[in-house]
Amino acid sequence: MSEIEYRSSGVPLESYELTRKDHRSQKQSEEISEQVRQQVDEDNAKCRADPAMAERRRQAFENAARLMQSFKKQDHEIMRWRVRLYCGHIIETKAHYTYSDPVAAGAYSKRCPECGRDGLTIVAFEPLGLCAEPPAPAVSPPSVLPKKPTRGELERRVKALEEENVRLRSQAPDEAAPHSRSKKS
Ligand SMILES: [Zn+2]
Repeated sequence: MSEIEYRSSGVPLESYELTRKDHRSQKQSEEISEQVRQQVDEDNAKCRADPAMAERRRQAFENAARLMQSFKKQDHEIMRWRVRLYCGHIIETKAHYTYSDPVAAGAYSKRCPECGRDGLTIVAFEPLGLCAEPPAPAVSPPSVLPKKPTRGELERRVKALEEENVRLRSQAPDEAAPHSRSKKS
């Protein structure tokens, strides 16, 4: 995991002067959002007119949701990012840890939870860290391995067994008496 170099762009928390590139990117993002919105409106209208198509679309969404669920990542595989949006609000976003920055991860434009505007571009970002610590490697440390008994411990155990043997023999003399062990059949 450590081989990924996480990028920063600007300092999200510092005051930020929007550049011409930022304005241009934002305009493009808004145009794309508008196109997507129109497409969705058209699809919705078609679905209202055609229940079979509506059902097919519902199925497709369900399948996609199930697929997303199967790709669900562990917390230690998720990188947290502080990002500054075009509107000026600072929010936190998440991306798979293999991406070097949130834009590369596909978070090209976002909806701002502060002002509610949609299709906002990211103008600055910095990594905050993984959602969780990676689990410890699966090899068990040597201290966890069962300890080899010492000679003294073995001797004590043998003595305890012998004592137990004597006790059992005295309780059940008919079955455990010495002569029954030596009998040859
Ligand atoms: Zn905002």
